[in-house]
Amino acid sequence: MKGLCYIDKEKLEIKTFPLPKITSPNEVIIEIKYASLCTSDIHIIKDKVPRAKKGIILGHEGVGIIKEIGSNIKKFKIGDKVSINCISFCGECYFCKNNYINNCNKGGWELGCRINGTLSKYVLVPFAETSLNLIPENFDLKKFLFVGDALSSGFFGVEMGNLKDNNIACVLGCGPVGLCTLICCKMKGIKTVAFDINEQCLEFAKKNNLSNFYINPEKLKQSENNFLYEQIIDYIKNNNDNSNNNEINNFCEKLNEQKGFDCCIEVAGTEKSFEMAWKLTRPNGIVSIVAMYEKNLEFKLPLMYGKNLIFKTGGVDAVYCDSLIKWICENKINTDLLITHEFNFEDVIKAFDLFRNKNEFCCKIAIKI
Ligand SMILES: [Zn+2]
Ligand SMILES: [Zn+2]
Repeated sequence: MKGLCYIDKEKLEIKTFPLPKITSPNEVIIEIKYASLCTSDIHIIKDKVPRAKKGIILGHEGVGIIKEIGSNIKKFKIGDKVSINCISFCGECYFCKNNYINNCNKGGWELGCRINGTLSKYVLVPFAETSLNLIPENFDLKKFLFVGDALSSGFFGVEMGNLKDNNIACVLGCGPVGLCTLICCKMKGIKTVAFDINEQCLEFAKKNNLSNFYINPEKLKQSENNFLYEQIIDYIKNNNDNSNNNEINNFCEKLNEQKGFDCCIEVAGTEKSFEMAWKLTRPNGIVSIVAMYEKNLEFKLPLMYGKNLIFKTGGVDAVYCDSLIKWICENKINTDLLITHEFNFEDVIKAFDLFRNKNEFCCKIAIKI
């Protein structure tokens, strides 16, 4: 079978691999129908992911049909449609029992990182009983493509933020995971301000009505106290028409009274977005960091003193996949809009170039296998 192989730094190739074989009773082989590309794949190609192994097939997002099952598998049968979790986890260790599956003692981010991933015809999934989720029979598989990674990460950001339905949040970054965060906030009735310095990403979020307000931080009035909630209030009041006046006023009043957002979900991963995140969070609020940074950042504790902030960081603990699938089936969540491009597997290198270099607007790419 053909697979998209991570050969070395900046070196990708479609290569031929032997068909996977079940070697443990807890494994399952999936015939992949759709896979996708993720920003983490770009991090791997740039050699920024120390745990990634060279020579493996990339891809950690995917949906497909079960072809073969190990003898311990009780939850699934051959022919079941499933979504694949980007985390392979045992379900039995200390971390798994506490839902911290990203730190599973026996697993973690394995697929498309340490073992062959989803950008191929077949994939072998370890700990399949816990690392796969059933998709109901009558639904199009493509609708569930992001359940195991991007959507789980978006939901994880909201969960870390402890957000409730009358809370206000800001989401920094309107890439795929940021958009998933906005989608989950909307489902939970949380009002949001979406930020991005990329006008196209911001416009895309706006076109799909995913947030209440949309702001390019570069357009905020520059001052010594940049990124404070007052500037956001000014911006919202000056840049929205009067049609929803009450709603805008209530939002701004809340923001003003509590001196910031209940939670800032930081998905952008830059020095500036990190600074915005803690500055825009209200005293005693939560800074929820989903972003993966490529360098060390300065933690300005003297400036933060007295604000009593809570910082939460994380690689996704994707333990809500069954709920996410249910909400997609009930039409409470829809991530179809994220798929701006679709390619056949033969053109996966072309797809990767587009995803990485963004010569045209590109949110998520579905790879049909
Ligand atoms: Zn990913
Ligand atoms: Zn475990």
